[in-house]
Amino acid sequence: MHPNPDIRLELQACRICAERFAATRTAHRPNPVVWFAPQARLLIASQAPGLRVHEANTPFWDKSGQRLRDWLGVDEATFYDRSKVAIIPMAFCFPGYDAKGSDLPPPPICARTWRAAALDMVPQIRLRVLIGAYAMKYHLPDFKNVTQAVAGWRDHPPGVFALPHPSWRNTGWLKKNPWFEQEVVPRLRTAVKEVLDD
Ligand code: SF4
Repeated sequence: MHPNPDIRLELQACRICAERFAATRTAHRPNPVVWFAPQARLLIASQAPGLRVHEANTPFWDKSGQRLRDWLGVDEATFYDRSKVAIIPMAFCFPGYDAKGSDLPPPPICARTWRAAALDMVPQIRLRVLIGAYAMKYHLPDFKNVTQAVAGWRDHPPGVFALPHPSWRNTGWLKKNPWFEQEVVPRLRTAVKEVLDD
């Protein structure tokens, strides 16, 4: 038996944000995308599902998933193997869209309610990959901004990488910061390989 309580079924049934989501343009119902198992060694600390992920019930089931897997140097089968990779976002449900059509931020109540217990369920994590500002704020005590956190990879505690969100919306950021793909991505791939091949 796992030493920490298995919260996955309870989390899957969570409806705390039902009213909040019903009031968004998509008026969707909560659908927590729960994707982790106690044996995982690599943690993807992400933001929140987008609409496609909400519909497919599979994390990173979109173009950003392709880009993220390329950065990590892993194929789809490895990425979706829950005994290797835990995907634990700052909110487990799609938050809806704002007036401009961008994704709303992850509801803070989700991390308050579930995050510590979800992280307790993956005690064998050896590499944490933080994606986007919300996960960085949670996991990096001295977080200031995404660019600084990504560039400061040498200064993070061992086993931590900070990445920009792999969304197409960040293609401009990637063009402006070529050092990320030249310098950080190769080191990230080496670290991922070490942890998953071990
Ligand atoms: S976002 Fe989190 S707290 Fe809100 S309904 Fe989904 S699982 Fe529950």
